[in-house]
Amino acid sequence: MYEFEYLRPTSLNEAAAALASSSEASLIAGGQTLIPALKQRLSRPSKLIDLGAITDLKDIRREGSHLIIGAMTPHAEVAASDVVREAIPALARLAGGIGDPQVRHRGTIGGSIANNDPSADYPAALLGLGATVVTNSREIAADDFFTGLFTTALNPGEIITAVRFPVPAKAGYAKFAQRASRYAIVGVWVAKVASGVGEVRVAVTGAGADGVFREGGLEKAFSLSATPETARGVKVGPDGLLSDIHASAEYRAALIPEMAARAIVDGWGGGG
Ligand SMILES: Cc1cc2nc3c(=O)[nH]c(=O)nc-3n(C[C@H](O)[C@H](O)[C@H](O)COP(=O)(O)OP(=O)(O)OC[C@H]3O[C@@H](n4cnc5c(N)ncnc54)[C@H](O)[C@@H]3O)c2cc1C
Repeated sequence: MYEFEYLRPTSLNEAAAALASSSEASLIAGGQTLIPALKQRLSRPSKLIDLGAITDLKDIRREGSHLIIGAMTPHAEVAASDVVREAIPALARLAGGIGDPQVRHRGTIGGSIANNDPSADYPAALLGLGATVVTNSREIAADDFFTGLFTTALNPGEIITAVRFPVPAKAGYAKFAQRASRYAIVGVWVAKVASGVGEVRVAVTGAGADGVFREGGLEKAFSLSATPETARGVKVGPDGLLSDIHASAEYRAALIPEMAARAIVDGWGGGG
């Protein structure tokens, strides 16, 4: 480690002012990604602004047809929340499947999406539901938020305050996890956005060379019939997919329809 100033503001305005005071200042939420980066000196901020004392950022509530989760809400609280379980049960299951108990108790939804790891789980849910990222200065549609590997549409000095999810008619998630970290080798979120003849959105994490993406072939097939059999009948090619020590692009391509089939089972209970 090396010297830096540590600040723990109690309001969003104070945090924003501290962040604006230096181009080398950095926010810290659960520290699950940032602390290892500091230890390895991959990141060397002059000021660390801890969001942990801003109570407004830790909140889960339902507002009509939307579920709102504050940026500082840890994964374990999303997993255990009755409000989340009632509104979007697959989101509670997704949060409960992140990492290990320590990661789930410290890591936050805001930190996860700001970091935009290409194997993280939440980006699939945000993109698959057409959620909105709320910051201290504006609202950003999930379709525009995830811009590439570890990059987002956030401007310097911008702070995520919450995520607003539309409550879907149905949604499911399945991931083929890396055994040690539980990060997704392939994770697929499927959602029927509105009841009746609704749009079906499919978002894939863990597999894209540029991070999370929507899978058009599966979306088209599911708009006619969202069943596990339909998913397994869709061919996904390896172009644009990641190859690394965990899996080749071809292997990931084969996993996407299978995870989509399992996501349908998760959210639809097998048919529909
Ligand atoms: C061993 C291990 C296993 C993991 N397994 C999984 C897994 O299976 N699935 C998964 O999805 N994730 C996994 N993670 C990631 C973890 O869940 C965290 O979500 C992630 O590390 C970042 O969240 P954090 O709250 O700790 O953010 P931090 O590490 O504190 O911050 C990360 C980045 O986000 C920025 N930031 C934080 N909050 C905000 C905000 N409100 N506004 C703007 N910028 C902000 C910080 O400045 C920093 O750049 C794992 C992590 C570890 C260490």
